Amino acid sequence: MKINHHYSELQDSYLFANIAQKVKVYQEAHPDQHMYRMGIGDVSLPLAPSVIAALHQGVEDQAHQETFHGYLPEVGYQPLREAIQNEYAAQGIDLDVNDIFVSSGASDELGDILHLFDRDAVVMIMEPAYPAYVDANVMDGRKIIHYDGGVLPKPDPDLHPDLIYICSPNNPTGSVMTREVLKEWVDFANATDAVIIFDAAYKAFIEEDLPKSIFEIEGAKTCAIEICSFSKTAGFTGTRLGYTIVPHELVREDMVLHDMWVRNRTTRTNGVSYIIQRGAMAIFTEQGKKEWQANIAVYKQNAKYLMAALDEVGITYVGGKNAPYIWLDCPNGMTGWEFFDYLLNEVQIIGTPGEGFGACGEHNFRLSCFGDPEDTKEAGRRLVTLLKK
Ligand code: PLP
Repeated sequence: MKINHHYSELQDSYLFANIAQKVKVYQEAHPDQHMYRMGIGDVSLPLAPSVIAALHQGVEDQAHQETFHGYLPEVGYQPLREAIQNEYAAQGIDLDVNDIFVSSGASDELGDILHLFDRDAVVMIMEPAYPAYVDANVMDGRKIIHYDGGVLPKPDPDLHPDLIYICSPNNPTGSVMTREVLKEWVDFANATDAVIIFDAAYKAFIEEDLPKSIFEIEGAKTCAIEICSFSKTAGFTGTRLGYTIVPHELVREDMVLHDMWVRNRTTRTNGVSYIIQRGAMAIFTEQGKKEWQANIAVYKQNAKYLMAALDEVGITYVGGKNAPYIWLDCPNGMTGWEFFDYLLNEVQIIGTPGEGFGACGEHNFRLSCFGDPEDTKEAGRRLVTLLKK
């Protein structure tokens, strides 16, 4: 038996399990205390009514001979692919509909897409980073360059990765790549034959004039794959759906990555549920858009409560404006875990220690804006009372 021993190289990065354990211990000792959950990046609001109606319609379709759908194309339900294509066209991005692959979510794709690359490929992960990037590559035994380039990292000509992860808007820092910096990465990737995996899971939060897609940048189609999710845009964390764009222009070592991905999907999946894809169609209607944008406005208001509190007590932070995360510098030289314990014990606020996103996050802390609005408002008050002392 030959087993994949790279699994034993995974760091004990059970970040959220550690947090849950600490919260459990605290709650057992203080059963009457209300907890203010600003930790994990799961949404708290339900799906938009239009999406619910479309999901019901999908179920109804499956009940009748004339509208029943069996296997769909593995790469996605064509009307949904076209709706996504139109959305990009409205932003001035011309995409071939065949380059859009409907997926069951960004997480699934972030792991699966690695099948296109050799295990000897060198991966660059800009930290602090979403932990799945590291873990998915450790499982495959790839060499990882942990790149601490600050909040808006730029390419380093001395480093030669084959694969480059860019997450913008960023989890955990909430920062967004400017067009100028993104262009530097695109030029770097094209010049060095690298491929960029661009994770745009949080693009719906961008309110300033910043790139929502890497394909806004000239040259990106020959070096980038874009991975998107409906989880944070439209509350699909539990419903599961996303999409990936693999441009047919992306060629490495005479292999067309788009064709490889078609072959991969048609072999390794039978596509995503018709009902869920039917539900997602409503995300692109005028009414549907209004509804999910109203949910995003609630999360943005949450961000404002927290940012106002941090401003008042003089804590420095980034994010919050074009992303649902606030990345703050822990006060008084505390580490992320020390600040976590302090907030939990003193004001019952649960956040995420920066250490969970890479060593460079040791003195940082992430607050999520996806929580309950009343709780978030109260959390803001509690932060001020505690930290103004
Ligand atoms: N990418 C980033 C940066 C995330 O933070 C998350 C989830 O938190 C995902 C991808 C996963 O998205 P999905 O729910 O579509 O799997």
